[in-house]
Amino acid sequence: MGTCEEAWSFYICAEIFLTLSPLGERVARDPDALHRDAGRVRGSRVIRASMVVTYAQAISIVQERIGQANPMPAVETVSLEEVRGRVLAEDVVADRDLPPFHRAIRDGYALRAADLSALPAVLQCVGEVPAGQHFEGKVDPGQCVSIMTGAPLPVGADAVVMVEYTRSLGEQIEIQRSVQRWENVVLQGSEAALGACVLARGRRLRAAEMGLLAAVGKVRVAVYRQPMVAILPTGDELVAVEQRPQWFQIRNSNAVTLSAQVTAAGGVPVGLGIAPDREDALREMIERGLDSDLLLLSGGVSMGKFDLVEEVLAELGAEFFFQGAAIRPGKPLVFGRVRDRFFFGLPGNPVSTFVTFELFVRPAIAMLGGTGFEPPVLLRARLAKPCRQTSGLTMFMPARVCVQNRDPVVELVNWQGSGDLVGAAAANCFLVVHPDQTELAAGDWVDVMPKEQ
Ligand code: AMP
Ligand code: MG
Repeated sequence: MGTCEEAWSFYICAEIFLTLSPLGERVARDPDALHRDAGRVRGSRVIRASMVVTYAQAISIVQERIGQANPMPAVETVSLEEVRGRVLAEDVVADRDLPPFHRAIRDGYALRAADLSALPAVLQCVGEVPAGQHFEGKVDPGQCVSIMTGAPLPVGADAVVMVEYTRSLGEQIEIQRSVQRWENVVLQGSEAALGACVLARGRRLRAAEMGLLAAVGKVRVAVYRQPMVAILPTGDELVAVEQRPQWFQIRNSNAVTLSAQVTAAGGVPVGLGIAPDREDALREMIERGLDSDLLLLSGGVSMGKFDLVEEVLAELGAEFFFQGAAIRPGKPLVFGRVRDRFFFGLPGNPVSTFVTFELFVRPAIAMLGGTGFEPPVLLRARLAKPCRQTSGLTMFMPARVCVQNRDPVVELVNWQGSGDLVGAAAANCFLVVHPDQTELAAGDWVDVMPKEQ
């Protein structure tokens, strides 16, 4: 039986560090108490033991802290073609009824439903109305008008019979089926009446929303300024992607991943280059990152001798809202504020960086960009193989969902833990295993998080 824990055996060392007291004591309950602790204690290694929160707590701390800061981004006006992914800064109202007339939604004959009490009925065809035109006259009892999808229903008619249920007899039309009043018609204003709000401030604008803006003639749109998100990878082993690494060096892949995630989340990535594991250089680069609306650091937040990120942030006067989350991957995650700027210290392992971004940074960028809080969406699937875990953590494990016998079925991909981007790239979702789910059987319904929201 494959166990969730196999993939995580390398984490055992980190566990021993953090298992100084039982999990219950390490998990903070009151964010304000945490904050007070953080104010008293300098030096990250001391703070950490009391500032590890559960997944749910971490999510609500991010929501609460950024919500309290009440970010009100500036507003700018852009043209409709440029609004994809932007956040609406005004309520948009319908400039006419939608639809603007009683619209036929089938090709057929416009008629009076009451004329079809006896079948087949034979009606006099008095005209034709294609989309883009209108019928000048009126449909009287015993009459019908040939009508196409998208055309306005002629006056007097109250339904459309599909052409498939009719037979042409020259001037006369035989109708073989009856219809309800207003069948195959969408009534004027039923989607939205003139003046009704069709898109509210705070909505993210994607293809469907853009289509709706177009439908109400909105060619200039007020949107919020996008948050600038500084990306600062740290680590002496890192080299630029264009550079040929020596055998003991690692390409800086996190900056590329994070930049793509920031863009997808509606932010503007600001690359700061690579910070070495040296306090003075790190401090200088963090200072530069504080010019942006949000600072993302990657690496340097674990327990190693050269993990200096928290110490440097503390020296700069940072408040820490949590300094660890009971999740895998991503446990050493740090969230706080320094000089009115929020920051995340993301663990350096590439899959940890990716996952912690999706869980916490994406909703944070959304809030800073003017939308409400949008927590990660979890879907349900059946587990392909049994799974065990006793870590007490919420696990996010690279997996693939596919449909079998109409059910979504999820199976873990082969991967070597939180440094393994090959495994993560092969996944299309993360299997979410909650701390109380110690034994899961094949066929159980479980939570999965789509790889990108
Ligand atoms: P750290 O969190 O600094 O202890 O780093 C954990 C692991 O992630 C190490 O194996 C690092 O080499 C790797 N890592 C850190 N930063 C990056 C990065 N920007 N790109 C790729 N791998 C990284
Ligand atoms: Mg490092």
